[in-house]
Amino acid sequence: METKANNAFLKFIGTAGARFVVMKQLRASGGLWMSIEKTNLSIDPGPGALVRCLSSKPKLDPSTLDAILLTHRHLDHSGDVNVMIEAVTGGGFKKRGVLFAPEDALENDPVVLRYLRDSLQKIEILRENTTYHVGDISFSTAKKLHHPGETYGFNFHLSSCTVSLITDTRFFPELPRVYNGEVLVINVVRLNPIGDDPIDHLSVEDVKTIIRSAKPRLTVLTHFGMTMMKAKPWKVAQALEEETGVRVIAATDGMKLDLEGG
Ligand SMILES: [Zn+2]
Repeated sequence: METKANNAFLKFIGTAGARFVVMKQLRASGGLWMSIEKTNLSIDPGPGALVRCLSSKPKLDPSTLDAILLTHRHLDHSGDVNVMIEAVTGGGFKKRGVLFAPEDALENDPVVLRYLRDSLQKIEILRENTTYHVGDISFSTAKKLHHPGETYGFNFHLSSCTVSLITDTRFFPELPRVYNGEVLVINVVRLNPIGDDPIDHLSVEDVKTIIRSAKPRLTVLTHFGMTMMKAKPWKVAQALEEETGVRVIAATDGMKLDLEGG
């Protein structure tokens, strides 16, 4: 008899975005943990990821991770990547785990220490429009996002749904079409429209445009900058939900999103 997966969730280890919310730890900054059946991923393990995973209830043990995914090299997304690699590889003694990262996270001024790399089973370099597999999970990239450094969002193709993750980026017209999963997790750093500011992040207005076009079943806002924090993310989410007619919630540190039930 076929048994349905009973372990499929996304946990928000941290919901801080950009420098000030991270450095003041107004929100935690450990990125995301995804578990699908027996496969565990850490996505963008920013500063504090190791501590936050281990102190999470129930505990999430980084030594059980199958892979670490970096959307890009910025510190708020990669601060704990090296210590997480040590955890995955049993301090470097067990050759295991896969790291998925853009090429510029590994080259000049790398965020992944070279001496740790051989202990990983594999390092896969992220490219545009490519599908990757790790254990029970497959995910794909789309076009590069518009953000300093090489940056990728992900579409996770799960049996119950597709989960799209739009990380740091400036808005561009193809965004809603290439990240059109039923569940949309989106980094919204800015409250007010970006306009001509030299800031490659999404604003609430951009998120509204994306929701109206991509029509996800559920949108989860995360990675909040200072202006979002001051506006109270849950209030922003409620207003977005009223305006778009689509379910919108604001992530909180430690929030677990069940991915079962389609
Ligand atoms: Zn960034």
